[in-house]
Amino acid sequence: MTTNNKELVVEKIDNGTVIDHIPADKVFKIVRILGLEAYEDEILIGTNLCSKKYGKKGILKIKNKYFSQDEIDKIAIICPTATIIIIKNYEVEQKKHLEIPKHIHKIVKCINPNCITNVEEIETNFDVVNNDPIQIQCHYCEKTMEEIIFNE
Ligand SMILES: [Zn+2]
Repeated sequence: MTTNNKELVVEKIDNGTVIDHIPADKVFKIVRILGLEAYEDEILIGTNLCSKKYGKKGILKIKNKYFSQDEIDKIAIICPTATIIIIKNYEVEQKKHLEIPKHIHKIVKCINPNCITNVEEIETNFDVVNNDPIQIQCHYCEKTMEEIIFNE
């Protein structure tokens, strides 16, 4: 937690996850891909907060929630600049700077309707061929795509 009182202080959570340094225009996308619209515990959403380093940024604080590696990879694909902070008893237990994974397994759909992964029950596999902008290539049909569609 920041102690610099020039920065906006959003209420602390006792246990859960803070996703910080989200580009302001990605905050609601993150809410959506993590399925947080249906989450029943407290979520604090801050967006368009001024950050010297990042311009306008967003922050999410999700009480009593810890994310799986697949979920963290989804966050990394959408906003690799984000930081994940695990909070336990008001203390920072872990702080992770995200990186776009080199391989993406299962969580993304292939956009090629004829790809075998869309015809049969086969888990998808992609190589990340470019990071910025992100571009991925399907292992099966070799289609490259810049539009990332997550599996539900
Ligand atoms: Zn494919």
